[in-house]
Amino acid sequence: MQAAPAPTRHDQATRLLHQCGATVTPARVRVLQLLLAADAAMSHQSLQQAAAASGHPFDKVTLYRVLDWLTGQGLVHSVAGHDRVRRFSLMNPHHAHAHFECSVCGRLFCLRGSLASAALELPPGFASDRVDITVHGRCAGCTAAATAPRSRGKDPGV
Ligand SMILES: [Zn+2]
Ligand SMILES: [Zn+2]
Repeated sequence: MQAAPAPTRHDQATRLLHQCGATVTPARVRVLQLLLAADAAMSHQSLQQAAAASGHPFDKVTLYRVLDWLTGQGLVHSVAGHDRVRRFSLMNPHHAHAHFECSVCGRLFCLRGSLASAALELPPGFASDRVDITVHGRCAGCTAAATAPRSRGKDPGV
């Protein structure tokens, strides 16, 4: 399905690990590479599939361990969709940001922009720990698919 990850992603992954003073291990680099290449947040399953497709399948336990570790280091954050499946993403680990969940394909995307300016008023005495906002709708791919002609030629005539 896809070629080997570009060397630049390998460099980026290695740099991310160096930045947090972590040991660079092949498994950590590979998980980060897959997340760098992803356009949406990825579940354990989709990461395993992507790894297998690139010719280097992951041991399931290793993948769980690496993701837990990366999350603990603040390099990766996870978000759950309506199906409660956790998906992992590299983007904005330290900033409150909103997510977009596509109601057609179910993919979850991290949105750019900070929620720090969101004008949410807490009642007196309330203290917020984190803000969790998900926008629901259709992603670009699904919007395009919905407007494209579904079949060529055959008009059902209804
Ligand atoms: Zn979609
Ligand atoms: Zn996110």
